[in-house]
Amino acid sequence: MRPWSTRELRYLEEHAGEGAGAVAEALGRSTDSVEWQARQCGLSLRKRRQCPNCGRWTFRPLNRISGWCIECTKEHHMADLAEQVVAMREEAAREKRNDRERQRHYSAKSRAKKKKNSHGKSHG
Ligand SMILES: [Zn+2]
Repeated sequence: MRPWSTRELRYLEEHAGEGAGAVAEALGRSTDSVEWQARQCGLSLRKRRQCPNCGRWTFRPLNRISGWCIECTKEHHMADLAEQVVAMREEAAREKRNDRERQRHYSAKSRAKKKKNSHGKSHG
């Protein structure tokens, strides 16, 4: 077995999170060799993924739709929900305001009608 160069060891250290297969391919070595060397160095070849949003590395799969880590996706959903709540509150407030306004106009109209009727009656 070909001895590992410092450059290769550094590569292994930096790219262990990409998995044995990827490192083996990049270095032109067998996966067995990479796995053996990783064990010697105490490195985990468990696949990790970097979240493009927060830049953190995770062992858990990234969200298929957002491409982000689970926590970023969660935060994004929460922000969405908060926005929806604000929008719904604004809509409800607007509805209340409009209903009140409409009620005021109706009352004014019916008062005006009554006044007109009573005015007409008093003058016979
Ligand atoms: Zn993230």
